Amino acid sequence: MTPAAVRLGVLGWPVAHSRSPAMHNAAFAAAGLTGWRYQRLPVPPQLLGETVRGLPAVGFLGANVTIPHKAAALALADTATEAAREIGAANTLSFVEDGAIEADNTDGPGLVDLLGADVRGRRALVLGAGGSARAAVWALMRAGAADVAIWNRTAERAGELASAFGARAVKAPEPADVLVNCTSVGLVEAEPPVPENPDSDAGSLGDPDIRLERSATQGCALNHLGLTFDQVGGYAHVIDLVYRPGTTPLLAAARAHDARTLDGLSILVAQGALSFERWTGLPAPRGEMERAARSEQSD
Ligand code: NAP
Repeated sequence: MTPAAVRLGVLGWPVAHSRSPAMHNAAFAAAGLTGWRYQRLPVPPQLLGETVRGLPAVGFLGANVTIPHKAAALALADTATEAAREIGAANTLSFVEDGAIEADNTDGPGLVDLLGADVRGRRALVLGAGGSARAAVWALMRAGAADVAIWNRTAERAGELASAFGARAVKAPEPADVLVNCTSVGLVEAEPPVPENPDSDAGSLGDPDIRLERSATQGCALNHLGLTFDQVGGYAHVIDLVYRPGTTPLLAAARAHDARTLDGLSILVAQGALSFERWTGLPAPRGEMERAARSEQSD
């Protein structure tokens, strides 16, 4: 009799863009885990609870969780790791034998693995105040950053995130050693221009001190981050969580200034490797995972 497949997947809405299935299926093959399968699980928010509770009965060992379900996934779990509790979100669920759901967050620890020594004692600036920014701020603080500043288009959210983690909210992007983009800016090919501020020659993002770049080809996207092409040159290490085919405007600008860069696929692999290790108890074949994530061009 053929043994039943061990199933895993990624819960999201939408989730068609996810490269996690290619990455994890390549990892299972490389680790000799025949019969292990990883699939997309497109689930709307109102069906998340009943879907998650039904997954173990149809052979699921666990699941990754992506937008918009990470906070809800933590709430429906029976137990949670310290990382998931402190970040306030889960990206990895494991279904254990007594029927309990365990929540973990590998986004934050994955970033610590990637950035650790590079961040200790350094000044960091996080752009964004959504779910991934929470994980990034947690990771930077864990990795020993000397100062973590947060800028967000909606300033109140930067303030809330800063108070939750003992970081600093800033009105405009400040100089730092490490810049981490946790907004979705750069996800689409061309960003629309930032609306002009009629009271300022420079235009603004709600702050007249933010100068807009109109000459650089990809200036529009940088402007949405409160930056100009020249200002990007002030950051020695630039990390962009966004991944898409080709490069993002922020990483293109950073590379033009010879900054060290890390792209969203490296971050995807770092968190995926920790999820793999949690589910399988085996060391993750990171090289295979990275190759598979980078060769998947479906989105
Ligand atoms: P989220 O919770 O929806 O937060 C989105 C953030 O982007 C908010 O801070 C939002 O600002 C900002 N934003 C959106 N459009 C903007 C614009 N036009 N101008 C300026 N700011 C804008 O999303 P998330 O979960 O944090 O994810 C953010 C990005 O990271 C997504 O592209 C996601 O795909 C990527 N990501 C990648 C990985 C990885 O493994 N590589 C993991 C997680 C997330 P407001 O508060 O003002 O709306």
